[in-house]
Amino acid sequence: MAENVKVIVRCRPMNHSELTLNSKVVVKMKDCMVEIYDPNERGSALPKQFTFDSVYNQDSNTEIIYNDICYPLIESVLEGYNSTIFVYGQTGCGKSYSMEGDKSSDPPEKGIISRAFEHIFEAISVATQTKYLALVSYLEIYNEQIRDLLQPHEKLGQENKLNLKEMPNEGLQIPGLTQEPVHNVHECERYFQYGTKNRMIGATLMNQNSSRSHSIFTISIEQISHIDDKENIRKGKLNLVDLAGSERQAKTGATGDRLKEATKINLSLSALGNVISALVDGKAKHIPYRDSKLTRLLQDSLGGNTRTLMIACISPASRNYMETLSTLRYANRAKNISNKPRVNEDPKDTMLRQYQEEIEKLKKMLESRLSTPLKIDDDKHDDDDDDDDLPSKNNNRESDLDTERDRLITEYEQEMRKLKNLHEHERTEKENILKQIDVIKHEYQKKIELLQMSKGDSVNKEEILKRIAMLKASLIGGEKADDLELSDKRKRKKLASERRLSAIAHVLAKIEMNEDREILQNQYKDISQELNSKTEALRKYRLKVKSLEKEICDIQGEFETERQDYLDTIRKQEMTTQLLSQISEKIVGTLKKECNYSNLEAIKEQAVWLDDCQKYRLPEMIVHRTKLPPAGQNHNRISSSNSETSIKNWSAPNSPPNFDGNDIVGNYFKPKRATELLNQSLRMDTNHVFNTWRDFARNNKPTSSVSQSFQQRSPKKFNNYLVSSENYLKKPLRLKALPNIDKTRKDHLGPLDVV
Ligand code: ADP
Ligand code: MG
Repeated sequence: MAENVKVIVRCRPMNHSELTLNSKVVVKMKDCMVEIYDPNERGSALPKQFTFDSVYNQDSNTEIIYNDICYPLIESVLEGYNSTIFVYGQTGCGKSYSMEGDKSSDPPEKGIISRAFEHIFEAISVATQTKYLALVSYLEIYNEQIRDLLQPHEKLGQENKLNLKEMPNEGLQIPGLTQEPVHNVHECERYFQYGTKNRMIGATLMNQNSSRSHSIFTISIEQISHIDDKENIRKGKLNLVDLAGSERQAKTGATGDRLKEATKINLSLSALGNVISALVDGKAKHIPYRDSKLTRLLQDSLGGNTRTLMIACISPASRNYMETLSTLRYANRAKNISNKPRVNEDPKDTMLRQYQEEIEKLKKMLESRLSTPLKIDDDKHDDDDDDDDLPSKNNNRESDLDTERDRLITEYEQEMRKLKNLHEHERTEKENILKQIDVIKHEYQKKIELLQMSKGDSVNKEEILKRIAMLKASLIGGEKADDLELSDKRKRKKLASERRLSAIAHVLAKIEMNEDREILQNQYKDISQELNSKTEALRKYRLKVKSLEKEICDIQGEFETERQDYLDTIRKQEMTTQLLSQISEKIVGTLKKECNYSNLEAIKEQAVWLDDCQKYRLPEMIVHRTKLPPAGQNHNRISSSNSETSIKNWSAPNSPPNFDGNDIVGNYFKPKRATELLNQSLRMDTNHVFNTWRDFARNNKPTSSVSQSFQQRSPKKFNNYLVSSENYLKKPLRLKALPNIDKTRKDHLGPLDVV
């Protein structure tokens, strides 16, 4: 059945600075209505009125709010529904106060989150015939990036960016997000504190303010019960969302990182607003959930299968009038969103099912292990399946197995000795006996191996049983099933919350009753009374029309301001884009034509937007090497690579020098005269030139890698490398080689120097 998103408004008391600045109270609350007065209007101007599912003034506490509105929502999570509670409003208006409470106040004020933990575990403890698995996760969205706040200690400080992934049949998932099983309130609190601390540390490290990020704490409750021997699995999920401050950021003249942050917050909250508008519109064919991470994550909560509650937090002070009005308008739109909550029956993605399957698999493994022929002497070893006193049994078994193995080894050795003696004495039967030895050796080895294996098995068995026990311990429920008082207390609370809800519904119905009908249904004594009454009504309507006209003007004004804000942001972003494109153009100018990044247009076309990662996948940087036409007879021997080489490989520091290709341009334009002279000397005596080169290399030791790589080459290819290495050590070789061809050095050739 469809039901609307519930929206309540909570107004905090005046804070210290508002009191010292003598700010006026511009908010009034009564029944389910909020009235807000424009501090700039004087006289009898009508206040703006908004009706919500419930409103809570400065004096109300979180306990009342929880019992009135949150209680039924958490109950439905325990029945297998999804529920979301999100707090919205200007920074400093009580979002975190409502969600997390205030430990510094006296007495400490518990927030909705702590109350929900208590509620859930109380309900689980008195449940009968149902087992539960509770899992928690905690994430933060900052600058459109998702951070895992329950990241384990060992991973802290590592890159913490998660992506959203749409999984077939399972919907939206966040691969890699930590999900921890919890057994009681204390564990939940610990994880929540851990995540909150993590959020603060992250915020400090990144020089950000945690109120600039959105956080989502999720507790999912999976339950298994057996009805008429049929297994029934359900999964309810509770999302507790603390949104970033709703105040407009661009107004503050932010630049750089701050602007980026501001636009991203606005992007998320605007996207949330647009989703709300589109959902309420009724005519909209497209709901822009994909416009931000926040709306993608809250997709089920807005127009989906979730029961949703929005708590709009406001300040009563005149100096926050504009922000308060904007929050009220935002919340007023949200209350018209219609959801279709349904119980998640037999969902595919439960951990419970995974745990069950694992337990079954482990049990089967155990059974198969136990059926292996472990025993050699059936009389001595009794394989007991009783799991409770497993460690001592295992130890006994282990020592038994050791003795058995030793016994077998000794037996084997004795047998060997006997056989060897026999072998000595009956040489003629040598072959047969050797065969026998082989057979017996093989058999004994097999037995020993089996024993070793069974020893390993017993350790595995222990591990398997431990794992089964751990998995079974994750299931909770029914610990206080006999506590009748607690069960009664729960029933009373449930009943009270139902009564309160119906009272709220009654008040709302009364407000919504058409005033026209009141006038029409009124009985008048005479015509003058009717005239007076209707004149009064007319006066009221005139005022209402006037206030509605003003409201239209206000909304148009607000829309215009917002438009200006966006235009400002667009302008600033355009300037940043322009700067980046100018810089890249300058850089592109320095790139060689052979590099694919020299053609930015082509790169732009090849770039692919990755929705999941929210970034582009750019083509790899490639340098195309062009083969130049031969410019002289000598160059026929210079081979050049035509293949495409990644720039990374190209500049790899450990790669051996490429004698053939690297100096292609140098070779191409090398003075012809020098080449001719060299060739001449080559023709004269190749060995002499080589010796000279070797001499030079010894004296000058260019680089170890060069000489090594040279020495490693096959001597057969000497001629080729002579030219190539000459290219590498071009100048010194020419200068030294030509006047000093020394024949006497031939006598001193080492083994490596043989040509
Ligand atoms: P937000 O999370 O919206 O930025 P906070 O929850 O941190 O704002 O509240 C700002 C300050 O106002 C805190 O010091 C908090 O204790 C106080 N505050 C907020 N709401 C209330 C309330 N209803 N009653 C008393 N103090 C409140
Ligand atoms: Mg906060």
